[in-house]
Amino acid sequence: MSGRIHVVGLGPGDARHLTPAAADALAASRHLVGYGPYLARVAARPDQTIHPSDNCEELDRARHALSLAAGGETVALVSSGDAGVFAMAATLFEALEEAGGADVEIAVVPGVTAMTAAAARVGAPLGHDFCAISLSDNLKPWETVLRRLRAAAEADFVIALYNPASRARPWQLGEALALLRTLRAADTPVVFATAVSRPDEAIVVTPLAEARAEMADMRTLVIVGSSATRTVACAGGGAWVYTPRKAAVPA
Ligand code: SAH
Repeated sequence: MSGRIHVVGLGPGDARHLTPAAADALAASRHLVGYGPYLARVAARPDQTIHPSDNCEELDRARHALSLAAGGETVALVSSGDAGVFAMAATLFEALEEAGGADVEIAVVPGVTAMTAAAARVGAPLGHDFCAISLSDNLKPWETVLRRLRAAAEADFVIALYNPASRARPWQLGEALALLRTLRAADTPVVFATAVSRPDEAIVVTPLAEARAEMADMRTLVIVGSSATRTVACAGGGAWVYTPRKAAVPA
């Protein structure tokens, strides 16, 4: 009997951002496979087996899920946010390709990704054309990151930066911001949204000229506005950040 893998995104933190479809997929799975801290967010039943692993073992984790399912088991392969955004869904298909295919059913369940959760906290910065770039150079050369940042800035996209920093990657965000300062106006709004929807959530909005790498860590999603992104005053102080639906007419 062939098994089944549900590739599940848990959302950014708050359990209310876990979709009903994701909750159903978790409930239907006998095995829960994922990065330990993500699995800790799932209330596993006594009849479910959890298989926590380290962050750096993604391909092994996908292979493990595949071998459990090939043995007829029902597996949830768990990511944070959306499992298809810089996460395990792509790794699973890489493992599937490496194996030359497998007799397992696969269902990818969408989730709320950090980018949209962060955007919602500050208003609507992704209201017009945007792109998402991972600043991690673990899986691609840093030159590729810089080339994409430059192209995105020149094309006037709003830019969402995933994986802006970590203990092992302390300098990349500083270099990225320095590059963007040469290509975008000094007053471009930049959002640092840390641990969105978790108890330690922190949101900072600052002009690009004052954006500093220290404002981010591995729990932060950074959004750099386009030339059209602006702020509008909130009742009670503070400001919303939004990008108008209508593109600015080029000068
Ligand atoms: N699959 C995830 C992204 C994994 S990459 C998703 O769709 O959200 C990990 C990066 O996501 C982190 O470095 C950070 O940039 C971002 N991230 C994940 N959860 C977050 C949260 N609650 N708040 C802010 N950023 C978050």
